[in-house]
Amino acid sequence: MSAQLIDGKKVSADIRESLKQEIADLKGKGIDPCLAVVLVGENPASKKYVASKEKTCAELGIVSIAHKIPETISQADLNKLIDDLNSDKKVHGILVQLPLPKGLDEKEVMYRIAPDKDVDGFGLQSLGKLLLDEPGFVACTPHGVMKMLEAYGIDPSGKHAVVIGRSVIVGKPLALLLLRKNATVTICHSRTQNLKEECLKADILCVAIGKAKFVKGDWIKKGATVVDVGINVGEDGKLVGDVDFQAVQEHASWITPVPGGVGPMTIAMLMYNTVQAAKKTA
Ligand code: NDP
Repeated sequence: MSAQLIDGKKVSADIRESLKQEIADLKGKGIDPCLAVVLVGENPASKKYVASKEKTCAELGIVSIAHKIPETISQADLNKLIDDLNSDKKVHGILVQLPLPKGLDEKEVMYRIAPDKDVDGFGLQSLGKLLLDEPGFVACTPHGVMKMLEAYGIDPSGKHAVVIGRSVIVGKPLALLLLRKNATVTICHSRTQNLKEECLKADILCVAIGKAKFVKGDWIKKGATVVDVGINVGEDGKLVGDVDFQAVQEHASWITPVPGGVGPMTIAMLMYNTVQAAKKTA
């Protein structure tokens, strides 16, 4: 068996395309959707992520205002910047690129972003709403995973979903979203015993741990859907996921590639959230 690809490039392109009309409608009403991007320090990966977010904004006609700040900024000054962006009526969404340099408190910053501008979905109100199944901003990567499943007609209802990883950015919100869609959900992490056995029970296996090719072919139930969130740099310098793609695709029925799977979805959902934030002000 050779699994079929879940093409994140295509699904994300479709989402971006559908946003263009919504953005045109907003502009017709005099609203220019605007994302403020805060980049602190010189982390090369963060700079790359911010550049691709700015590029996608430009392609869609979303205004992006970049605040590129030296890592010597104090917590008080960073807080003040967030407060200013919170009260700036032109700004609809605020993104603070993580990780922040040492000495700055990420949680303090995330929790300070106004809930109606929290397009990354990491604030207390967004996370609370997710837990309560109320509408609100959902973190972009797990939201993107759900959109991919939906696009390929993979309905989690009644299925056994296993999520490896319990971060607030990916694993936990993804588990809640799968639960919302009536999957039976198991969350695994670094202390999980018999991880292979847990994986073998999965109809839908989502992996977000940050370890190259960690999940092996013989961990996969025949015909399962495998979603690889991981982004790692392999020994050859190329991007590689948390799943051993070649071996796993022999057992799965659907699989996301790396690159070209979950990655493009994350940016598309950031654009989606920014447009939703702008629509709320209409
Ligand atoms: P974190 O480091 O925050 O979390 C990793 C999780 O994996 C933890 O819950 C950890 O368990 C678990 N874990 C680590 N080692 C093992 C192991 N040996 N067995 C089982 N579980 C393990 O990472 P993130 O959630 O932020 O990111 C995960 C991956 O997803 C990374 O590769 C990251 O680059 C990628 N990513 C990709 C995105 C995209 O757009 N495609 C966006 C965001 C992240 P414990 O809690 O016990 O420590």
